[in-house]
Amino acid sequence: MSQLEIVRSFLAEETEKQENYRILHQLAGCEENGVESYLLTLLCDPEEKLGQLAAKVLFSRNPYLKLTRRVAAMKPVSSLEYGAENEQRWQELITTGLSDFIKMHGDNVSAYIPLTHFPALHQLLVERLEEAGLSAVAKSFARLVNLNQEQERRELIFVPTYLCNLSCPYCYAKNWHHTFGGSATRETIVRLLDWAQTNFITTISLAGGEPTVFRDFAFLTEELRSRTMKLTMASNLLFSPEIGAYLQPELVDFVTAHYDQEYIGNSGLHDRYCRNFAELCKKKISARIRYTLTVDSNPDEWGNILDLCADFAVDSIHFSLTFLNYDRSNTRPFGENELERKITLMGEFCEDALSRKVRPVLCKPVPLCYFSPERMKKYLLEDILQNGCVAMDAHYSRNITVNPDLSIFPCNGLARKGPEITGFASLQEAGSYFKKFISGLEARPFFPQCSSCFYGQNGLCQQACLVEKIQTEIKRPEPV
Ligand code: SF4
Ligand code: SF4
Repeated sequence: MSQLEIVRSFLAEETEKQENYRILHQLAGCEENGVESYLLTLLCDPEEKLGQLAAKVLFSRNPYLKLTRRVAAMKPVSSLEYGAENEQRWQELITTGLSDFIKMHGDNVSAYIPLTHFPALHQLLVERLEEAGLSAVAKSFARLVNLNQEQERRELIFVPTYLCNLSCPYCYAKNWHHTFGGSATRETIVRLLDWAQTNFITTISLAGGEPTVFRDFAFLTEELRSRTMKLTMASNLLFSPEIGAYLQPELVDFVTAHYDQEYIGNSGLHDRYCRNFAELCKKKISARIRYTLTVDSNPDEWGNILDLCADFAVDSIHFSLTFLNYDRSNTRPFGENELERKITLMGEFCEDALSRKVRPVLCKPVPLCYFSPERMKKYLLEDILQNGCVAMDAHYSRNITVNPDLSIFPCNGLARKGPEITGFASLQEAGSYFKKFISGLEARPFFPQCSSCFYGQNGLCQQACLVEKIQTEIKRPEPV
């Protein structure tokens, strides 16, 4: 009798619950065929805990199931060179696994809910349901996971100014104040907010530059208040108490608080950041600490920032790595010959953060092959990695950014200038404007080996921020 059969017959009998859980764990390392399909069938077990455990075992065997399959898949080549060990289980999941599940549950819409926890399967489940003639269930599931972005975005990114009170060398918007139209005027703000209201936008997300140095910050917040719109923002938190007074919980939903390395040796800047962070907490405005790893980062540097997390009882830290920005105007990015250092630093930072009970969350996609299989598994299961960005989900960019002069970008990192937002009939229409540009970038391999990679072929790895893809296109030859 195979191990799978033993587990199957054991669970088919009425046995003691704890014993059931123990025996199911044995499947975590089982190499036999059929395990994936069996675990899928258990997801809907009437005993909820058994279903949850089956999901856990499935993830531990196939951590890539946490990844969203939404980026353009690479044109397949005959043999896989990277991640090939996943192929057999993946094929079982998407063929017999999904079809057995569909046969078992038919048009019982609620039975498919456990599969919402497996982003890699969303799109394929919808396709299989359509093939099985269960169109209504397919539509309902697609709506549930927002596969086709039917739930329209109600948030719009706006840069009131590219001016800043700091001059971080790695900033992606370095010198954009000169390139992209200075600061907004009162007239443009009113025009933008009128358009936003007409398009049912509920939240304006301020980016920059530093939004709080915008000369008409008070006017902007008043306009938002009078329209009962909300605000989120990315800030370096160096604002004065007067500006801080405008940030009240009924207006501000969320603040991403960038802590720059420069603060570490400067008690004035550090204290001001801490005071403003504490104030936001006191007002019960959600705030998260954001950190950027540069070529010069080291454990002492991020140790200070992790201390800050401890001081504020913050249990996660969002971070990204510097890269050459769109118009190559920033400095201290990781160069090609620093690739190894970049990967090592990222790993060391993540391990240090985890050892201090702070979950590091990487804000941009990076090549999954940067990590060893063990590390990748750990980071996927801990929700540290993200595999795709919102510059182009299913149909349109959810990161459309409005410049001070109301012209748009496909996202705040990709500075390709488009027309004024007010010329579009909807946010969705504005987000589709760059579709060709973005799709082209998505489909282009970052490394030549991406097309012979399990993650690349299945659209599970976006490889890198699209801005990085543009830059490497210049440095690397197209793969053959
Ligand atoms: S970057 Fe390319 S080779 Fe590396 S995991 Fe992603 S798709 Fe595969
Ligand atoms: S392209 Fe880069 S900056 Fe733009 S949304 Fe994607 S990850 Fe973010």
